[in-house]
Amino acid sequence: MRKCLRCQSDMIEGFDFKIEGASYGITLAENKKIFAKRLGKPKAAVCPNCGEISIYLENTKQIKKAL
Ligand SMILES: [Zn+2]
Repeated sequence: MRKCLRCQSDMIEGFDFKIEGASYGITLAENKKIFAKRLGKPKAAVCPNCGEISIYLENTKQIKKAL
């Protein structure tokens, strides 16, 4: 469970990013190469108390591999 960095409340996790007007999501990619290695789709957690949004990746193995 993620804690809000601002108010320490429990955050609600697992939200997807959507581009308004379309069903495309967004992807995070390692940007050093022409064909960027995709690190996965970022997810968002929202604090129900103060509205803080936290962006995170679920698959941390991919991040460690890219480093
Ligand atoms: Zn908060």
